[in-house]
Amino acid sequence: MTHPMPSSSPVSSDAVNALNESERRRIEAKSALFAPPTPVTEDGRRELVGLSREELAEVLTEIGEKPFRAKQLWHWIYHQGVTDFSLMSTIAKPLQAKLEKHFIVGRPSLTTQQTSRDDTRKFLFRFRDGQEAETVYIPDRREDRGAVCISSQVGCTLSCTFCHTGTQKLVRNLGAAEIVGQFMAARDSYGEWPSPKGDTPRLLSTIVLMGMGEPLYNYENVAKAMKIIMDGEGIALSRRRITLSTSGVVPMMDRCGDELGINLAISLHAVRNDLRDQLVPLNRKYPIEELMAACHRYPAASNSRRITFEYIMIRDVNDSDAEARELVRLIRGLPAKVNLIPFNPWPGSDFRPSTRERLASFAQIVMDAGYAAPIRMPRGKDILAACGQLKTQSERKRQAESRNTGA
Ligand code: SAH
Ligand code: SF4
Repeated sequence: MTHPMPSSSPVSSDAVNALNESERRRIEAKSALFAPPTPVTEDGRRELVGLSREELAEVLTEIGEKPFRAKQLWHWIYHQGVTDFSLMSTIAKPLQAKLEKHFIVGRPSLTTQQTSRDDTRKFLFRFRDGQEAETVYIPDRREDRGAVCISSQVGCTLSCTFCHTGTQKLVRNLGAAEIVGQFMAARDSYGEWPSPKGDTPRLLSTIVLMGMGEPLYNYENVAKAMKIIMDGEGIALSRRRITLSTSGVVPMMDRCGDELGINLAISLHAVRNDLRDQLVPLNRKYPIEELMAACHRYPAASNSRRITFEYIMIRDVNDSDAEARELVRLIRGLPAKVNLIPFNPWPGSDFRPSTRERLASFAQIVMDAGYAAPIRMPRGKDILAACGQLKTQSERKRQAESRNTGA
């Protein structure tokens, strides 16, 4: 199959938009089939984490309180990190008790936590319906800062051949509460409350949506969660410090750029469609040319905010000098950088990481063309916390079972 280059394509941008719009609707309809359960406790209390400001005001009105209380609660929940209403000292005792009766400020529960020899910490979180997902904190080696790698789905519908998560069927999407909750629970673990303001250094300083799942197949929940995290009166993490990684869900990329303005990372991994079709099967739907065209359109990209191209280096599969040169040709004209990730092995996979020499030679070609091309040495390998190694035991319940539990 040949794929026409966008520059020679006769398709107008209006036609691209119309096509994307119908594809977007299809993706959103499919995403709804995997919706998370409503965040309510067994005794009927509503989870407040994960509600937008407007929704928070609404639930307060429902219990007969004034909507302005939302601002106060927002501060306690997201700035102070308080989960216990009785510690919200600016709220009068009777109201604290009333809030307690109707609401909860929760966290996913921590099933296990492991800290690697290199200080990377992996959390296995359990959500209210028993499903589990992993979150990883990767501290910087030199400074007191680090990245929190967050999951967006339990399992993944895509089945990239090099990825451990891809062997776990999609169980369901994570809700906004569960996505924000991963970050907040990781912050609890390091005691980083109240949220540092402005440029004050933070230990948990960046977010990468690179955990389990394809974030653009759960866009609504991911977007809602990121808006909460970016809100200036709460956690207040800048959009410049958040990176969403996608295997290339082209129709959702524009929306993400327009609405969230966060950084984009593309899991490229191959420079020819025949090979990328095999490694990242989504390529059969959105081939390299369409993916690159979407990168050119990405509104939040600039020289100071480059698009990251992730490239897993797999021995004798995608790591030749010719492929490095082709990679450079593909990204030419884009504000881009390349992350070279030696393949991380996991039980049952046949691939091997590229040799040191191959990595160095490939990186040199990309750097000679003027692009940053750091080789990302795996972190947290001893606890299976490195890229592509995440997987949980959660399985999709049979239909009958889920009907019984109302999930
Ligand atoms: N679904 C999204 C985000 C999660 S994957 C995506 O694919 O981009 C996060 C990153 O880990 C991706 O770049 C993915 O390609 C990479 N990855 C997956 N398996 C890996 C492995 N075995 N070794 C190294 N990186 C891997
Ligand atoms: Fe899913 Fe990303 Fe893994 Fe592919 S690499 S299977 S898209 S999590």
